[in-house]
Amino acid sequence: MNKLNRFQTLALRRTFPGRIRSTVLARYWHTSKKMSSESSDVKWNDALTPLQLMVLKDKATERPNTGTYLHTKESGVYHCANCDTPLYASNAKFDARCGWPAFYEEVSPGSVTYHRDSSLGSVRVEICCGKCGGHLGHVFEGEGWKQLLNLPKDTRHCVNSASLNFKRE
Ligand SMILES: [Zn+2]
Repeated sequence: MNKLNRFQTLALRRTFPGRIRSTVLARYWHTSKKMSSESSDVKWNDALTPLQLMVLKDKATERPNTGTYLHTKESGVYHCANCDTPLYASNAKFDARCGWPAFYEEVSPGSVTYHRDSSLGSVRVEICCGKCGGHLGHVFEGEGWKQLLNLPKDTRHCVNSASLNFKRE
């Protein structure tokens, strides 16, 4: 798979920010919040580290370029670190040079849920585990990855490594 150089990445970010926002919002504005991790019946796995709990439960973001799976290229499936639901297949992972693992789609419909997130002064689309509601990251569309890397979809699921548990296959 082709990799973007730093200049291509910067150019993409300059070119597409407005489009990302409007495209993503048009598609996901209506999605439900029923699986939100704010619901009181979520069970948090005792094995989670403090960082994992901060990300999954409190929706924190791990520092860029620090995650365990940023450069992982092995074949397998990324599961929810909290409830073990399969979330992303390794063949949907690509190098977006954004500092976090990036996937162009979830492993199957419903494995990830979409939620409007208006924190930090902008509107983004949050992605959560479809089973336990644990926070995964955010999703962005129309950034140009499909053309640049010849991907099936122009979608980037920007996911915290802390939310994931990789299992080789
Ligand atoms: Zn989960």
